[in-house]
Amino acid sequence: MGKRTKQYKRLMRSFEFLGFRQPYQLLMTSDIIMDTLKVDVIHLFEKTLSTKNLKPMITQCSIRALYNKNVGPDRDPAVAGAIERAKTFERRRCGHLMDEDPLPEHECVMSVVDPKQNGQNKFRYLVATQDVSLREKLRSVIPTPLMYVKRGVLILEPMAASSAKVREREERAKYVPLLVRSCHFSEY
Ligand SMILES: [Zn+2]
Repeated sequence: MGKRTKQYKRLMRSFEFLGFRQPYQLLMTSDIIMDTLKVDVIHLFEKTLSTKNLKPMITQCSIRALYNKNVGPDRDPAVAGAIERAKTFERRRCGHLMDEDPLPEHECVMSVVDPKQNGQNKFRYLVATQDVSLREKLRSVIPTPLMYVKRGVLILEPMAASSAKVREREERAKYVPLLVRSCHFSEY
């Protein structure tokens, strides 16, 4: 097993400690779908996360963003392929109305991941996006595994400091009583 694979496995175990369960719900934005069209993207995610149990998802606004790119004479012919792929993902109803303009994707994803705006990733989504500022914002939503593609390689970001702090606290709360007990026993 490669070094990175081991590192990511350990990282995902840390996220599982914070309530992530398989199948992992993987929320993808349109940009990363466009950037991974030439590869078997689900296989790539499965390999990177050492899982066979992944649920790729896309919000209604993200798929509408793709449809909006697929118009006009200058449209990128790759968009049609991205739409076909996105259609195979589970559609996440975001509640942003079809008769209104779609929300910008970063706003839509923020509202889905942190619905109460209290900095909590309520439904435990993994988010894969090429949008640097969206990843930046999501680092303060606890706990959110963040992924992106760089030069054809899928990257899982290290756990954000805010999430790591929570994990440390919870781990201490879980194991300290055990430690105290074992010290107690050793007195006999
Ligand atoms: Zn939306």
